[in-house]
Amino acid sequence: MGKEDEPGIRLPYGRQWIDEEDIEAVAQVLRSDWITTGPQVPAFERAVAGFVGAREGVAVSSGTAALHAAVHTLGIQEGDEVIVPTMTFASSANVVVFEGGRPVFADVDPDTLLLASDEVERHLSPRTRAVMAVDYAGQPCDYDALRRICQRHDLPLVADACHALGATHRGKRVGTLADLTAFSFHPIKHITTGEGGMVVTEDSDTAIQMRAFRNHGISTEARARAQQGAWYYEMVDLGYNYRLTDFQCALGMSQLTKLPDWLARRRALASKYDRILGDLDGVTPLAVREDVEHAYHLYVVRLKGASGEQRDKVFRTMRARGIGVNVHYIPVHLHPFYRERFGTRPGQLPVAEEAYNEILTLPLFPRMSEGDVDAVATSLREAVTDL
Ligand SMILES: *Cc1c(COP(=O)(O)O)cnc(C)c1O
Repeated sequence: MGKEDEPGIRLPYGRQWIDEEDIEAVAQVLRSDWITTGPQVPAFERAVAGFVGAREGVAVSSGTAALHAAVHTLGIQEGDEVIVPTMTFASSANVVVFEGGRPVFADVDPDTLLLASDEVERHLSPRTRAVMAVDYAGQPCDYDALRRICQRHDLPLVADACHALGATHRGKRVGTLADLTAFSFHPIKHITTGEGGMVVTEDSDTAIQMRAFRNHGISTEARARAQQGAWYYEMVDLGYNYRLTDFQCALGMSQLTKLPDWLARRRALASKYDRILGDLDGVTPLAVREDVEHAYHLYVVRLKGASGEQRDKVFRTMRARGIGVNVHYIPVHLHPFYRERFGTRPGQLPVAEEAYNEILTLPLFPRMSEGDVDAVATSLREAVTDL
């Protein structure tokens, strides 16, 4: 898996799991007539939407394309603002820029690193057009609070749930908590299609618009035209080629059958980490909110009070021992692109900036063994003691 399969790294922070059933599912489609935008696409859309309990799913070529499609349907214009937490992957904010908008970065809760609702209030302006929640590490945000704010100000709520497929909030699955919810099927995420993503929504008109957006803004798809024997089509919007192939959708459907087991496995491994690390001085696992079932895309700890240099030392020590720790994320407002284009700067969002110095992502994926968790914890204990 690209960068993660580094020489000497015995345990990456995440890894896909592809079995013979998956390979057979892909091979079957490759032997068929339709290898892209055929019957597997709507089947995968129904399967994912069904799993999360949403009405519609729109499959696209990446999680970023899913976020882009979601933001596009909001009709963002030049200068419009979208509130985005800074503790996320850059693409959550980038998609706003794709549409000519301005991401307004908000700070996070220090215990969970989730978008803080009072921060959303603080950053509202007459130009605010939407709020984007990010279910950091796989934990649902405080959707009750976020929805209240959005309803009060008549703003759509978009969820970047690329970490949170299978998570729940008060018994409701992520995918039903925001107006539009984006998932990613990159190999590091819960299930994979190689590259891929999906937006789920209750709104069928928006789904139709997003299906056009993924296909150049064309209002009907090739397969539907072939069935009608018609050559005529209309381009009704400016769109992209964000299609997901049929063989990728077949892989996704095969992967989805294993998701419940994998979620259970991630939760079991995370609770083992919690138990072992609970009494380790200087190491604080992120807090888990009440009323949520965490999907544990990532297992993140804070090295409380550590400087960035100290965290880097722990990072290097563990990597030297073959443990593929990582850091999620550099706050997006600190990236040169945002500083230069939008004038963001260090000091602006102190909670996320302080957290950034202290966070470390430990390996977590369904194929890890209990012994692997012990080995990571031992290595972390030693690295922290050496500080
Ligand atoms: C993975 C991820 C994305 C982008 O997904 P891709 O499929 O890699 O484009 C966006 N946001 C977050 C929070 C992610 O983790």
